[in-house]
Amino acid sequence: MILPEQQRRAYLEAMGIDVWLPRGQVDCDAKEPGGSAAGMDWPALRAAVAGCTRCALHQGRTQTVFGVGDPNADWMIIGEAPGAEEDRRGEPFVGRAGKLLDEMLRAAGQARDSVFIANILKCRPPNNRDPKPEESKACRTYLERQIALVQPKIILAVGRVAAHLLLGTETPVGRLRGTRHQLGEIPLVVTYHPAYLLRSPSQKRKSWDDLRLARRIAAEVA
Ligand code: URA
Repeated sequence: MILPEQQRRAYLEAMGIDVWLPRGQVDCDAKEPGGSAAGMDWPALRAAVAGCTRCALHQGRTQTVFGVGDPNADWMIIGEAPGAEEDRRGEPFVGRAGKLLDEMLRAAGQARDSVFIANILKCRPPNNRDPKPEESKACRTYLERQIALVQPKIILAVGRVAAHLLLGTETPVGRLRGTRHQLGEIPLVVTYHPAYLLRSPSQKRKSWDDLRLARRIAAEVA
């Protein structure tokens, strides 16, 4: 008999949507291409990412973009993938969108170096296209390990790609934002991607509300 949860995952996988598992719930059936990063410490994880050849994106990268910030941060920000500037500098969110993200965080009382910032993908997709399912699947173990090591009080998923992959849904960001979700035990708030906010500044107000929600939730977490 197929259990409802297995059915849901089979359905999402058939649609090409990666299924992210809550922390502590190890997916024994998942074939990690290249093995799991579970159990790695920070130096081992960094080295594994730096030398990663699990998917074709390694062929086009200048360097991997591991993530930056406080390894014990209360807030973890998760975006989509490095862009051109990030690929050049080896750091996430350093272009125009990154500047806006920094401003948003500062307004919410969080300095860039007091949070941990990472992406779904550690390598730049060509022409900034969306991650392919096999790319996010290959990279998934790295982000899962980063989340497990940071153990943040709150995760802020910025943009459609991060929100959909983390929550295993295709619901539009406009309907995911403004409310509390869970990634296992960790509360998660969705907000608009800063690159979208640069194109649609009228939505900044909603993003500000999302950050205030994240701040409230983080304050409630012991
Ligand atoms: N957009 C992202 O999602 N991540 C980055 O690192 C840069 C831009």
